[in-house]
Amino acid sequence: MANVRNQKMLLIVNPVSGKKLAKQYMMRMINRFDQAGYNVTACCTQINKNAYDIVMNRAHQFDIVVCCGGDGTLKETVCGIMQLGLDIPIGYLPMGSTNDFAKSMGIPTDVHDAVEAIINGEPKPVDIGKFGEEFFIYVAAFGNFTAISYSCNQKLKNALGKNAYYMQAVADFFRMKPYHARVEADGEFFEGDYFYGAASNSYGIAGMPVLHNMGVEFDDGLHELILVNMFKNPMELLSLANDMVNKTVSDNPIVTIRHCKHIRFEFDDPTPFTLDGEFGGEHTSVEAATLKHAVKIMVQRPEWISLEENEEHDFVEEPHEA
Ligand SMILES: [Mg+2]
Repeated sequence: MANVRNQKMLLIVNPVSGKKLAKQYMMRMINRFDQAGYNVTACCTQINKNAYDIVMNRAHQFDIVVCCGGDGTLKETVCGIMQLGLDIPIGYLPMGSTNDFAKSMGIPTDVHDAVEAIINGEPKPVDIGKFGEEFFIYVAAFGNFTAISYSCNQKLKNALGKNAYYMQAVADFFRMKPYHARVEADGEFFEGDYFYGAASNSYGIAGMPVLHNMGVEFDDGLHELILVNMFKNPMELLSLANDMVNKTVSDNPIVTIRHCKHIRFEFDDPTPFTLDGEFGGEHTSVEAATLKHAVKIMVQRPEWISLEENEEHDFVEEPHEA
């Protein structure tokens, strides 16, 4: 950023997200932002969804809002900024268990680099999903495996990272069932028994980087509709697993992928959705739409980078001296 002198920064810190490292880095972060010329006001989240409340109550007084925590903290911050209709940049210091969104976006997962990306980076316009009356950042999904993120306990997530999700996925495999749905995507209709369905704006889903080379962009005004038919036999499951590993999911005959602006999901029975890993309510009819360039997020690099496979950052190294 060219000149940040006297810019007012609201720094929202979730001290208990992910590996609880925010507290450890907080003074260094504030010191670095202060050195760079920001006038920093720091708040810690206290209860669930509190980052949203802090934004709603205070963000209108600031030039930039920076949140420090997991993807959930970022989501609360983005939802608050969207709700207020503010045109100010959002900075994200990712301290969650997997940080999928940060990696997908090119936001550094190293604390020092993430701080520098806010100070010296640039605001990138990013699309946000509207789901009914709510917002989502990277995925609104139904079906099997969607409950993984919020059913997987925090201690397990911290200890095992992505492996916690995979372990939960294996457990869920034995409980999987079909979800009958009717789906309309920009005028195209689909109906079937699905294993999984989603409106997505991400390379990775449930921590699995499966949508490479499929034209996913975060600022193209489009989401990806993903529908996976229920497996008819074990070979279909093995074939899909193989395509996920080889990043050739779009070639799999039981997978449908469309780039679209509006998606309507309809079900015979109320069906639970997950929004960015959190419970998103049960729906019989719900619309997902893309809000193009709805927010600006500070990023380090001029181009989006690819999600690095199996990258795991544990933040144990000492950050650079601020
Ligand atoms: Mg997109």
